[in-house]
Amino acid sequence: MLDAKRLTILTESAKYDVSCSSSGSARKNSGGIGNASYGGICHSFTTDGRCISLLKILMTNKCAYDCLYCVNRRSNDVPRASATPDEICEVTMEFYKRNYIEGLFLSSAVEGNPDKTMELLLETVIKLRKVYGFNGYIHLKGIPGADKLLLDRAGSYVDRMSFNIELPSEKSLKMLAPQKSRKSIFLPMSNMATEYIMARKEKNYRFLPAGQTTQMIIGASPETDGQIIKLTEGLYDRFKLKRVYFSSYVPTNYKTSLLPTTPVGLLREHRLYQADWLLRFYGFKADELLSTDENFDLSVDPKCSWALKNMHLFPVEVNTAKPEMLLRVPGIGFKSASKIVAARKYSKLDFNDLLKMRVVLKRAVHFITCNGKFCGQEKLTAVKNIIALSERADTYEQISMFSTNDITFSVLGGEL
Ligand code: SF4
Repeated sequence: MLDAKRLTILTESAKYDVSCSSSGSARKNSGGIGNASYGGICHSFTTDGRCISLLKILMTNKCAYDCLYCVNRRSNDVPRASATPDEICEVTMEFYKRNYIEGLFLSSAVEGNPDKTMELLLETVIKLRKVYGFNGYIHLKGIPGADKLLLDRAGSYVDRMSFNIELPSEKSLKMLAPQKSRKSIFLPMSNMATEYIMARKEKNYRFLPAGQTTQMIIGASPETDGQIIKLTEGLYDRFKLKRVYFSSYVPTNYKTSLLPTTPVGLLREHRLYQADWLLRFYGFKADELLSTDENFDLSVDPKCSWALKNMHLFPVEVNTAKPEMLLRVPGIGFKSASKIVAARKYSKLDFNDLLKMRVVLKRAVHFITCNGKFCGQEKLTAVKNIIALSERADTYEQISMFSTNDITFSVLGGEL
């Protein structure tokens, strides 16, 4: 049985990986214990506010590699531990039965070599499924450089796999993680994507029902947000990833001058997640959001930032604008755009209607007309200041759709 000391070491060592949030798997229970939930598994929060949902543990933190940014690197003097496949299975089952967890996120440092490590991970998930009858959600970390057969087999037992890119460029990988290369990470991602697409076509072939994800560390190396977003777009297009996770760099190594000594602010990570959302759901292209030598303006969100750079496209008339253009209006989200498109077939919409549809008017008002009426600010700097102020207020107030003391009130002539 895995003792508390090793359990602590192995779970502590896994906490820097953020690529584990589960966004659902439709796999059915085939007679074992537990269910992989379509709507996500469970939610818990780490001390720095990140949402985790699974028992997140390493098989071992004894690493043969020496990635400078990583707490588990070979040259770091930290307590080391390993677990056997049976120990991981037992602790997962025990925690599951006690309702502590609803799934497993299993990763590992590279002990010995990639094949040996991947064999142990594979043995663990096979045992969990076949011997222990565990039918809950499993997210398995793939080890770059491991044999394709091992990786493919793992993909048929687990819900999700991820290969972490870690750093956004080959140059940074060479500098900070010399044993890794882009090719060794992209190749298994590409193979997994091919199998995943095939499995979607074949009825009885189950392979990574929850797809694959990856993680990038932000701010450990000098790449701009523009480069990161461009890479993110490529990963979605080429490898059909479900998610790209961004992890703000946290210093764990003060012995090298190659890494920053201060953490990267979470706001930068937040802006990248907002941009990622725009790529996946709002029809934006990376090039539209930023050029590769730019970083996001931290004072406003990327959609507002884009709109402010493209004021010549606004205001748009909500009663006639194309749906794809409505989606680009700050303050109009996917749901409110759909409601607008559905409702305007029957009657002309006014600002009051938009308010009822939960359009965030304090932002949208500067970019729209309603029946030809414009109630926003025309001056770019004034618009930016109002939006930046409202964003700052939202971070303290929890997103308020409209408040009685700002521009929204004056738009409606005090009708709120
Ligand atoms: S391979 Fe690199 S990132 Fe992974 S555990 Fe080892 S040192 Fe850390």
